[in-house]
Amino acid sequence: MSAKIISGREVADEIRAELRERITELREERGVTPGLATVLVGDDPASHQYVRSKNKTASEMGLHSRQATLPAETSEAELLGVVAGLNADPEIHGILVQLPLPKQIDERKVIEAIHPSKDVDGLHPINVGRLATDSGHFFAPCTPAGIVEMLVRTGHDPAGQHVVVVGRSNLVGRPLASLLLRKGRGADATVTVCHSRTKDLGSVTRTADILVAAMGRAETITADMVRPGAVVIDVGTNRVDDPSREKGYRVCGDVLFDDVKEVASAISPVPGGVGPMTITMLMANTVKSATLAVSEAVGAVR
Ligand code: NAP
Repeated sequence: MSAKIISGREVADEIRAELRERITELREERGVTPGLATVLVGDDPASHQYVRSKNKTASEMGLHSRQATLPAETSEAELLGVVAGLNADPEIHGILVQLPLPKQIDERKVIEAIHPSKDVDGLHPINVGRLATDSGHFFAPCTPAGIVEMLVRTGHDPAGQHVVVVGRSNLVGRPLASLLLRKGRGADATVTVCHSRTKDLGSVTRTADILVAAMGRAETITADMVRPGAVVIDVGTNRVDDPSREKGYRVCGDVLFDDVKEVASAISPVPGGVGPMTITMLMANTVKSATLAVSEAVGAVR
């Protein structure tokens, strides 16, 4: 049996088409163009690449996008000043400060300085808390939100399913568990979260109806760790040396794709799986923020 491929690109295209309609509506009927500001500090090439592609997608989709690029020696106070300016700017509905930040800056302080109503990365404690308690308006972090959309829109509703998440980071594993534990669409799952101290990982992953690998360990989930017929979502994005490639490396997931696809019923590839969904959900969160800003519901967020 060879698994059905869950294409994040196709699902992302579908969501982007819906968002474009909503963006046009907001512009034509409410006179508002959703605005996303990205803040980049320092010279990390990967961060530059991420921010470039976020801004490119925003512009392609008709969002107003703005980028603040600051030198590596920027002080915490200077960065907090930039964030305060964006918090007060009515043209900006979403603020994304690209992590990691240089070591002289306390990331926690910066995340907490972003107004929760503009925290489209979903990392502010107010948003984290509302997600965890499933109450009020909140922004969910983009990668887990993308995973849930990808499952629902490809016919793999997690309701009633046992989902095993490998990884407990604040960016992926924990918020994904919170999303799946809620009641309602894309939720109502039975969730197990694993991490580096989990004993006999394979014995847990084999109990999954849906297995999500978010460890950042190249090709660690092997076929014997997957229950036949399970759905597998691979979040990992790893660079592995490969002298046969022009760049000298290849990008792979946390799942040994070629082997696991013979056991699973459906599997998301890397690249082309979770990655495109993450950027798309950033756009979705920015559009949601602009929608809330023009509606009375905004009172519940602020
Ligand atoms: P992270 O902060 O490094 O967290 C990794 C998690 O995996 C930790 O909870 C760690 O456990 C656990 N882990 C590590 N090795 C393990 C093992 N051998 N067995 C079981 N658990 C193990 O990483 P992250 O930010 O969550 O990202 C995870 C991966 O997803 C990375 O490859 C990242 O590049 C990728 N990612 C992709 C996207 C996308 O859009 N495609 C977005 C975000 C992240 P401990 O807590 O015990 O250390």
